[in-house]
Amino acid sequence: MTQTRFTGSFTQQEPIPEEGIAAALAVLQHGRLHRYNVVAGEVAEAALLEEEFAAQTGARYCLAVASGGYALGCALRALGVQAGDAVLTNAFTLAPVPGAIAALGARPIFVEVTEDLVLDFADLEAKAVASGARVLMLSHMRGHLCDMEALGTLCARLGLQIVEDCAHTMGAAWKGVPSGRQGVIGCYSMQTYKHVNAGEGGLLVSDDAEVMARAVLLSGSYMLYGAHRAAPSAEVFERVRMQVPNVSGRMDNLRAAILRPQLRLLAERVARWNARYQRLEAGLQGVAGLRLVQRPAEESYVGSSFQFLLPDWSAARIGAFLTRTLARGVELKWFGAPNPVAFTSRYDHWHYASAQVLPQTDRILAGLVDMRVPLTFSLQDCDLIAQIIRAEALAVGQGPEPEAAELPVIQ
Ligand SMILES: *Cc1c(COP(=O)(O)O)cnc(C)c1O
Repeated sequence: MTQTRFTGSFTQQEPIPEEGIAAALAVLQHGRLHRYNVVAGEVAEAALLEEEFAAQTGARYCLAVASGGYALGCALRALGVQAGDAVLTNAFTLAPVPGAIAALGARPIFVEVTEDLVLDFADLEAKAVASGARVLMLSHMRGHLCDMEALGTLCARLGLQIVEDCAHTMGAAWKGVPSGRQGVIGCYSMQTYKHVNAGEGGLLVSDDAEVMARAVLLSGSYMLYGAHRAAPSAEVFERVRMQVPNVSGRMDNLRAAILRPQLRLLAERVARWNARYQRLEAGLQGVAGLRLVQRPAEESYVGSSFQFLLPDWSAARIGAFLTRTLARGVELKWFGAPNPVAFTSRYDHWHYASAQVLPQTDRILAGLVDMRVPLTFSLQDCDLIAQIIRAEALAVGQGPEPEAAELPVIQ
């Protein structure tokens, strides 16, 4: 019997909207790509991008920078994190998060995650007390939001400032509050696989004037901060401008031009992502041995990726399942692999951080499977993908224990 096979690409995003292409061409034609290179009366694309994203998130201030990872490091520096300081972060996250902490010479302290892939509050409290950390770099990894109100209360009691890593939650919200607005700083990524695509790029939002003035100076504004629109007033800059080093990581006008029309499409994209996510979720309900991640009613998510757990499956069984789904064109990532593959590295692969033991996270990641959901997939594509996962999960999960399987290589 020939089996149905999925032939779409898990890494193909949609093209840049025509409006973005036209705006990019205009920048290329006038040649003023550097954000502070403007003619009299002109407002740079980068400054307009900041102004528009501030309005979209309801933030007082916004800064555009070179990457999501840069935004995270800039946020820590703007809060005064120093070399040697402990910074708390989720044990389940992506490499740029501990990397931003380590780049300052600070120490990442990993916090356990729950089966719903969010921060474990009891472990957060224990680690905050034990480490003396003043900052939590909260990673909304794969778009899962923890109870943001409860977290806010807990962090206030523990004296922790929150930096939010919203690489997977641009457009998401908790009880209607946009993701990135509960912490003192929210950071976003515009790398190709995120919710808006400039190839590379980052955004920071904050309501704190002095923190944002430091972030603008850090990003490499020279003394041209007056050209920013979503920035604090000149007096705030005057207080700090001689204290802050220039760590260049500016956004340029070309990428800002590509991004502005995409931000206007964000709500529509979120709806399309969620339609796809819900088709996958519906197709994978009730599969024996496969656990879906529960999404709380307070969370408005962006279903740009899909996760499920194969709890207590052996590595050989998961390997066999991944091999069979890949053979049918379905590219799944596994967070339990002994060696890091492409984007899926794990806290114990980051040897620059001190060795830490997180048994709960280990157990969860050992069964965690992850999939990208690009908007180039149709709803029918999602139905077919769910059908293939379902069939192979049942065949492998209910079958005899396989021989130790070679893992498929996915780039
Ligand atoms: C992509 C990503 C970032 C930022 O990455 P850049 O590639 O530097 O833009 C941060 N955190 C998470 C969880 C990410 O997936």
